[in-house]
Amino acid sequence: LKQALRREQSDLFICYGDPIQVFERLAQQGFRRIVASVDYDRYARKRDAAIAARFQFVLLNDVYLFSPHDVLKPDGTPYRVFTPFYRTALSRLTPEHYRCFSRGDFGFASPGIFDPESLNCVDETGIEPKPLALESLGFTQAPLPEAATASPRQLWEKFLTRLEHYAQERDFPARAATSHLSLHLRFGTLSPRFLLRELRESPEGAPFLRELIWREFFAQLLYHFPHTETEHFQAIDVEWADDDEGFDRWCRGETGIPLVDAGMRELNSTGLMHNRVRMVTASFLVKNLGIDWRRGESYFAKKLLDYDAASNIGNWQWVAGTGADAQPYFRVFNPFSQSKKFDPEGEYIVRFVPELGFLPAKSLHQEESLRQSLLPGYPPPMVDIKRSAEVAKLRYHPR
Ligand code: FAD
Repeated sequence: LKQALRREQSDLFICYGDPIQVFERLAQQGFRRIVASVDYDRYARKRDAAIAARFQFVLLNDVYLFSPHDVLKPDGTPYRVFTPFYRTALSRLTPEHYRCFSRGDFGFASPGIFDPESLNCVDETGIEPKPLALESLGFTQAPLPEAATASPRQLWEKFLTRLEHYAQERDFPARAATSHLSLHLRFGTLSPRFLLRELRESPEGAPFLRELIWREFFAQLLYHFPHTETEHFQAIDVEWADDDEGFDRWCRGETGIPLVDAGMRELNSTGLMHNRVRMVTASFLVKNLGIDWRRGESYFAKKLLDYDAASNIGNWQWVAGTGADAQPYFRVFNPFSQSKKFDPEGEYIVRFVPELGFLPAKSLHQEESLRQSLLPGYPPPMVDIKRSAEVAKLRYHPR
């Protein structure tokens, strides 16, 4: 990125420190204007408000298609449910939403005046890109997944060949059917505007565009309802279970439920997890173990390479039944029926839980047969799936 920017008479420096202090020192060096991406979690909004109060500060809506005031209900209030938000969002899309910005639009300063030495900045001039060691972040397995090493364009071109099958295949975790673009969208190395430019002529792109609009929906929810970062979106009280051992087993992927364990081990070893399995693992924690979604959310936050506060919190609340959802609060994903349907041959499960490889695939989806067989190195299911869901349901008290 640094080299590409230098070719454009610009540059990249990484500065460490309190943002206000860093920008004060930059201002002393002659920088006058700060242009930044919008960022909607509580910390980011507080930080940006403090910066805007002292400096000339331009917030750029480049990581989302819409700003939080673009897609509102006719009465001007924010949507609380996805489908009407989605319909309105589609009806509001204009060429402005897929306009290609150029650097000139923002008048970036030339790097000539900047002395990084004086700033306690790390200048990586001339250093070849280094592969990031996942172990340094506490992961157990290198190398990085393709989603983190391939360029957005490489990923996009690969995905284009599968786009027409996306809707039918996206829920099957063993198939590489999704775009793997979440990291690039998260870090702004790919703009959703680019995707819209690519998709606008293609009717088969609609299911994929719908997922991008989910991302917009969760971003605007966090913007309009900032308290939902830590509090329930719905008026529901829940008596959470105080179960540290259950939580640890879930984190380690040692619950005895094959799909849940495969998902958690995928997360622990790669920093990613397939969307369907994110739903199943999250549902198991909340709806079978009765553990507070906030504990799961913060574990995902620690491990996910594509961690995004709005999407993570929004999805966790949705799965927990405390969030923005048109369905009643008690939706449960039975992990055995989910694996039977979406990983029938157990290909995904065995990829991450190889000790189950010798079992016939159908046993992976049968709670009773797993409970009865003594499997070397693999625990029996830690709860009865149906009973635990009934018990967890009693913990919910809609106000
Ligand atoms: P694709 O299927 O190719 O989708 C394309 C893009 O659409 C994704 O890259 C993503 O930006 C967006 N998208 C897709 N599904 C969703 C969704 N349900 N909600 C919001 N945006 C979506 N996504 C994150 O980017 N960061 C997170 O921290 C995150 N946490 C999640 C936590 C839970 C409990 C669940 C159930 C889902 C979470 N997701 C999160 C959403 C989704 O799982 C990932 O975006 C998706 O798996 C990324 O893979 P992909 O890029 O191949 O997706």
